[in-house]
Amino acid sequence: MKSVYVNWGKIVMINMNSVWSIDDITPNGMLPIKDRDLFLIKLVHLNANISAGIRYLLVRDGLIDIKNNSASKLSFGQSYSFDEDALKSFISSYKFGPNKKKIPILRGDTIGGYVYRRKDIEADLQDKIEYYYKRAKVNIMKPEQDPRIPKIRNKGIQPRSKLFIFNVGQGDTILLELQGGELWLIDAYFWRKETYDSFKRWIKERYRTIKLTRLIISHFHYDHIRYAAKVVEDFEPKEVIVDNSYTHKTGAAQNLLNICDSRGILKVLDNSRQMRLGDDEIKLIRTNNFPGSHQLSPDPNEHAIALCIKTINSLALLSADIPGWLLESLVTNGGPASSKLPNKIYKVTHHCSLTGDHDPFLNEFLPTRAATSCALKNRYGFPHDPPRSKINRLTNYLHDITYTRPLGCPITYELV
Ligand SMILES: [Zn+2]
Repeated sequence: MKSVYVNWGKIVMINMNSVWSIDDITPNGMLPIKDRDLFLIKLVHLNANISAGIRYLLVRDGLIDIKNNSASKLSFGQSYSFDEDALKSFISSYKFGPNKKKIPILRGDTIGGYVYRRKDIEADLQDKIEYYYKRAKVNIMKPEQDPRIPKIRNKGIQPRSKLFIFNVGQGDTILLELQGGELWLIDAYFWRKETYDSFKRWIKERYRTIKLTRLIISHFHYDHIRYAAKVVEDFEPKEVIVDNSYTHKTGAAQNLLNICDSRGILKVLDNSRQMRLGDDEIKLIRTNNFPGSHQLSPDPNEHAIALCIKTINSLALLSADIPGWLLESLVTNGGPASSKLPNKIYKVTHHCSLTGDHDPFLNEFLPTRAATSCALKNRYGFPHDPPRSKINRLTNYLHDITYTRPLGCPITYELV
């Protein structure tokens, strides 16, 4: 028990004065563990800037309510403080995952007495987030047929759009270099300041500027927004595009919306939009109107923003963390990502988890290259198999995974 507590004790600032939100709950069937009823909870600190801002807990299923209607259970997007002393008697540890790291496990029958729901903090986060959204609603992104960059077909060497998928640990950060010199960033996760600084240096050396045209937030899970407020501050995008569905109430979400609001750059994407830059056609896709999807699902993955970039011979699908059953609508019946182009690049959904293992989607889309962003030895066991083996086969083993790359060397695709 003592060593267990030492392990738990390393979880700095888990005490009554600090507040943690549940950003994600992963069911047993998605985890590399045998115990039938354990769930993995991802806790993110209210202060997104502290270095130890992400912690994990294993919890028995009786303590969880994924529908968010029981006050005495742990739920998505809710905030809690922990009584460290009382917690000692309810906690032990469990080794699992590729590196057999210890992880605390709650063994109590109830959360009463050591976990405290922080409705005060939740209400405050909710008020602020709703306020920023309300102000941004006047800023719905308009349909745009962008005439700025004329077509350049058959005029000597053509500039090619490029896609860079960065090694940022267990999350997503993707850069699009588009025609006319536009730089778009899709999501902004870094696991510590050093990786963020090296990303910043990389951009500066390559482009001699760190100005972004757009920042697009696919959804508000922490592994996509942790550094988003910092990116807005440093990279000064002209627009930040977010979806208008249910948003997790976390400190990182609030910080991002706050800085965007103060600069007047927040734009809400209520429905899919299409735009053109030179020869490239770019679609921002909302899955909220697709069959089976619902706006208010407590899982932001189900109403995220996907991107589809079509060039003369290539199509790139950036699928955020959208489940495979929703991606199917993108590629069937003339959906926004259906195409017969010879090069098809697939940013594998949800870090190559089982949620993306959906044959009707994969067999219709038929990627020729694929990239998965996940951390080496991550606790979820990503990339899961299947879909890893299926994607490997479909792409003839041209499936790149970020953890194989050194820092500062993103996976790069030219969209020819
Ligand atoms: Zn993610």
